[in-house]
Amino acid sequence: MDLQNYVNGKWVDARDGSRFDVFEPATGEVLATAPDSKPADVDAAIDAARAAFDTGPWATMSERDRARILLRAAEIARREHDRLVEMESRDSGKPLEEAKHDIDEVAFMFEYYGGWATKIHGDIPPVGPGAMSLVVKEPVGVAAMITPWNYPMLMAVQKVAPALAAGCTAILKPAEQTPLTALEIPKILEEAGLPPGVLNVVTGFGETAGHPLVVSPKVDKVGFTGSLEVGKLIMKNGADTLKRVTLELGGKSPNIVFADADFEHAIQGTCDGIFGNQGEICSAGSRVFVERSVYNDALEQMVAVAQAITMGGSLEPDTTMGPLVSKEQQERVLSYIAAGKAEGARLATTERTVTDERYRNGYFVPPTIFADVNNNMKIAREEIFGPVMSVIPFDDVDEVTRLANDTNFGLAAAIWTRDIGKALRTAKAIRAGTVWINDSQPAPTEAPWGGYKESGIGRELGPHGIEDYLETKHIYINIER
Ligand code: ADP
Repeated sequence: MDLQNYVNGKWVDARDGSRFDVFEPATGEVLATAPDSKPADVDAAIDAARAAFDTGPWATMSERDRARILLRAAEIARREHDRLVEMESRDSGKPLEEAKHDIDEVAFMFEYYGGWATKIHGDIPPVGPGAMSLVVKEPVGVAAMITPWNYPMLMAVQKVAPALAAGCTAILKPAEQTPLTALEIPKILEEAGLPPGVLNVVTGFGETAGHPLVVSPKVDKVGFTGSLEVGKLIMKNGADTLKRVTLELGGKSPNIVFADADFEHAIQGTCDGIFGNQGEICSAGSRVFVERSVYNDALEQMVAVAQAITMGGSLEPDTTMGPLVSKEQQERVLSYIAAGKAEGARLATTERTVTDERYRNGYFVPPTIFADVNNNMKIAREEIFGPVMSVIPFDDVDEVTRLANDTNFGLAAAIWTRDIGKALRTAKAIRAGTVWINDSQPAPTEAPWGGYKESGIGRELGPHGIEDYLETKHIYINIER
């Protein structure tokens, strides 16, 4: 499969003809090739988006017509559901069940933001008897979107749908590891009636295809989801053109199990929160705090859940954990497991591998639980982005709140207890953008998503997800003249 960029409504190769290989994580074999885009290719996409915004039909199209295109896109995504699920699963390594969830949510995001397109409005603050003020919401302009490989289509549509609903035009640069479904987005939107140039997609690497978007004076905003390191770089590199940025970065999210929790539910949810999507989740509950009186029982049961997980090819129906996305990521996660052992954490799970010959070159890492972890260990401080749980005992609410907040990150937290007062007190005390009570990981499209501290800037999803694609204009009218 030879993929192409989508620029100004046309499918094109990189100008210098260069391509890179995209690997299937389950087998390690080449799945596709994609254009290795360079600054000239990115500039062409920026020019197309700029023209579509400044002089093209998008900005002048009625909100109703923009809404209809997004609503049609939702229907087309649903029609293509099964094909997209298989493509996403193959490209990213996630099991089919998880890919199904992603694609269902992708279709709903088009619908949800299609609904918002006709409901964005400003207001009229009182400014005295002699004047009127109109506060008007306008699209921020040309928006660039730089996305990661863990939820390839979801993370892209999470940006594209609100941006289009706001009236922006866009350039999407998907992660080099997983470009397949990102290139389906313009196909869906073109069929739904999106004019050329409004959404452009260029594939390639961060420094050559992502960086030009960040420094271009013609791009008004960058929406980024990815690593802390690159997020900081984007903020620095975007400073010269005072780029608006939305950053959704890493996490080291606490998952707190109180002794009075619904035990089985808490154990399963805690495991799902770190082993789901192979642990490649920015909000993964990677630090598991367990009240000391139930610590040994909890550990034993979590190990049992981990050992029962079926690792295998992502398309196999009985697989509950697929491979990691790349060889590089597999090596990175294995190096953290080695660091955990070296630091003296107790490895509580067995180090198994996939036995099926077809997947012997796949990028698998087994579900891994470290017991008796100290919150100062490297495995408790740095984001691993893999199926590695660190379990830490605690004695009371104050101690666990302090430990939970003792991190540079602040993306999410989960609390398991039947005591509603304790749950809400703890939820208020934790510095994180999302707190789940008796659950882990739901991120519904209707509610805001984003981080405190070094987990990011701005919010995606919900109405908040549109705010970041809007400017606010004040029009003052002297009504005495
Ligand atoms: P990860 O470490 O999880 O692979 P990254 O933060 O490196 O995540 O990548 C997320 C996205 O950022 C990818 O699309 C990648 O190509 C892009 N990217 C990486 N480096 C840069 C950069 N210097 N400028 C802009 N985009 C970049």
